[in-house]
Amino acid sequence: MKGTTMASVGSNTPRDDVSLVMVLMDTNPFFWAGQSPPLTFTLFLQHVLAFFNSILLLHQMNQLVVICTGMNSCELIYDSSNTEYKKNKGIKGPQENVIPSTIIVQQLEDFMTRDQALCKDNNAAMNSHSLLSGSLSMALCYIQRILRGGPSHPQPRILCLQGSPDGPQQYVAVMNAIFSAQRSMVPIDSCIVGNQHSPFLQQASHITGGIYLKPQQPEGLFQFLAMVYATDLHSRRFLQLPRPTGVDFRASCFCHKKTIDMGYVCSVCLSIFCGPSKKCSTCESTFNQKPLSSEKKK
Ligand SMILES: [Zn+2]
Ligand SMILES: [Zn+2]
Repeated sequence: MKGTTMASVGSNTPRDDVSLVMVLMDTNPFFWAGQSPPLTFTLFLQHVLAFFNSILLLHQMNQLVVICTGMNSCELIYDSSNTEYKKNKGIKGPQENVIPSTIIVQQLEDFMTRDQALCKDNNAAMNSHSLLSGSLSMALCYIQRILRGGPSHPQPRILCLQGSPDGPQQYVAVMNAIFSAQRSMVPIDSCIVGNQHSPFLQQASHITGGIYLKPQQPEGLFQFLAMVYATDLHSRRFLQLPRPTGVDFRASCFCHKKTIDMGYVCSVCLSIFCGPSKKCSTCESTFNQKPLSSEKKK
């Protein structure tokens, strides 16, 4: 029998209220170890898992992908369109009865063990910054695959749940990811769960037209997530969503990866340096020494 509802679900027309939500979750143990009761990692997970379920419940065709941002690595741990988890993880029972939360928690544990083992095995730095540039790139690659898969794809967006401070050494990679997202018209939403603002994500949300918010009451995280970030791109046009209060546009120098207020810019490739030099280390252009004083840039 041809039911009208089923026909509209199976049809190939793109739907602007169907979302592909890529969630980048900060799992840096240095950050989470320092968090006290209003929002410990366990409580954070409770809020976030409820939010994940809400996204999947809001529309039957919504797709959720979770990427973990660790200290030295990042990994795609959950994809709601993938039905292979049960097989791989030996979870018993029919496929429909497997709750996403069970899989996510299990995959998360495995990932965090691997990420921390990287420090011991490869003598990688114990990093208090998370690999945001890596997970942003991973999310964008996934989105590109969906966008090129045909006309009937869901509307992609990225949500960064970030706690640890920005890693200035990732400045160039993060900015490249932001411009790539802007070009593909993918908004980057940011929810800051740490104590300090993230200039990287302020710029990311500002440039890509996403929402940047640092919830004032971390104990109500789920409500912030559900009220602000669960809204699909179509509905956002009709809602009063939080507006940015200010964006920190400061850049990091390419030579020492430090955040600077004033610097020198290569007139050829626009690389930023904290001090004058005779040659650009990025594009190898040689500079005339005389006009250095006038090259200072805000
Ligand atoms: Zn420098
Ligand atoms: Zn240059």
